[in-house]
Amino acid sequence: AETWDTVPLAPPDSIFKLTAAYKADPHPQKINLGVGAYRDDDSKPWVLPVVRKASHILLNDPALDHEYLPITGLPEFVSGAARLILGASSPALAEGRVVSVQTISGTGANHLGALFLSRYYHFNGEKVVYLSDPTWVNHFAIFRNVGIEPKTYPYYDPKTIGLDYAGFVKALEDAPERSVFLLHACAHNPTGVDPTEEQWAKVADVVLAKKHYAFFDTAYQGFASGDLDHDAKAVRYFVQRGVPMLVCQSFAKNAGLYGERVGALHLISPTKEAADRVRSQLSVLQRSEISNPPSYGARVVALILNTPELFEEWKADVHTMAGRIIEMRKELHRLLTEELHTPGNWDHIVKQIGMFSFTGITPEQSKALTERDHIYLTVNGRISMAGLNRSNIRYFAEALDRVVR
Ligand code: PLP
Repeated sequence: AETWDTVPLAPPDSIFKLTAAYKADPHPQKINLGVGAYRDDDSKPWVLPVVRKASHILLNDPALDHEYLPITGLPEFVSGAARLILGASSPALAEGRVVSVQTISGTGANHLGALFLSRYYHFNGEKVVYLSDPTWVNHFAIFRNVGIEPKTYPYYDPKTIGLDYAGFVKALEDAPERSVFLLHACAHNPTGVDPTEEQWAKVADVVLAKKHYAFFDTAYQGFASGDLDHDAKAVRYFVQRGVPMLVCQSFAKNAGLYGERVGALHLISPTKEAADRVRSQLSVLQRSEISNPPSYGARVVALILNTPELFEEWKADVHTMAGRIIEMRKELHRLLTEELHTPGNWDHIVKQIGMFSFTGITPEQSKALTERDHIYLTVNGRISMAGLNRSNIRYFAEALDRVVR
C-alpha cells in the first residue's frame, strides 16, 4: 500500500469549477455570473482609487518595515475596524467590552470565532450552530472543522423568493436555550434577502428571550446599500439590545482587497473584565494557528480608516460599487418587466440587496442558460449582479426571458 491510498479524491469547489468552465469557453458573449467579486462596467476587477492612494503613501514611507505585527493584529487597524462596524460612539467600545482581533479576512474571522466557541462556549448539550438555509457554503465546513455540527434554520422561501420570516422566528423559538445562531448582518449570501428593521427587532426579542448567541457574519458592509452605517444597523441594534454576540468582518469586498486577506473578529463581552480574559485566550488560539496576521492589507485599511480625507474617498468608492450594482438591478428589472414582458413577477430583483440575487429559476433553467447561452451561474439560480454591465445586460435579460417561457 502506498502512503496516501486511503485519501479519497475530493470534488473540485463548485465556484472554482464554474470559473474554469467560463474561462475555457470561446463564445464572445459569454457571461460569468458566478464570481463573488466586484467587476466594473468593463467586467474588470476594480482597484479602489483610495486603495491605490493609500498603498502609494505606505510604500513611499521610509519608516515602513516588515516586522511582525502583534498577535492580535495592527492596533490602529483593529480599533478602526471595530469603530466602523459598531459605530464610533458605541458604548460597548467606550466601556472596553469589545475584543477585536485581526484575522485572515472574513473566513479567518469565522474560523477563529467558531474555534473560540468550540473551546469556551457553554453549549446546551451538543455543540451545534444554526445556519440559515441556504447560506455561504463554507460556513458548514468552517464549523465542522472545529467540531461544531451545523444545523439549518428556515430562511429563504422559494414561493415568495423572499424571507421565510415565520419559519425563521419559529426556529429561534424552538431551538434549545443558549443556541448559537449565525446571522448575516446584511446582503445575505446567496439570496440577497435581508430581514426588515421590524423583523430584526423581533428576531432580537426572541434571541434575548431564549438567551441565544448571535454569531454575526458581515462581509458586505457598505456594499449593500452604498452606506457603511446603514449596512451596520442590524449589528449595532443587537449590541444596543445587549445580545451576547460576536461579529466576523471582512474587507475583501468593500475595500476590494480580496487577496490581501484583511478581516477582524469582534467579540462583545458583558464586562471589560470578561473581555480581557477572552482576549487572552483568543491570543493563545491565534498564536498557534497563524502566529501573527499579515500586515500589508491591514496597513492600507488602517490608513483609510484613520485619515479623514481618505475615509471620505473610500465612502465615495463604496458608493460607486454599490451604485453600479443597484443600477444593474433596476435595469434588469426594467428589461424583464417593461421591454420583454417576461412571464412572472421580477420585483425580487430590485428588492434583494448586495452582490447576489436569487432569480428563482430552476436548476434545469440555470443549466440551460449555461449550455445554450454561455451564461455561467450556480445551479441554485444565484447570479452575481457584479457580473452584469451595460454591454451584456440585454443579452442576459433576453436569455433569461427565453429560458422561463
Ligand atoms: N462570509 C460570507 C457570507 C461571504 O460571502 C464571504 C465571501 O464570499 C465571506 C464570509 C468571507 O470572505 P473572505 O474570507 O474573502 O473575507
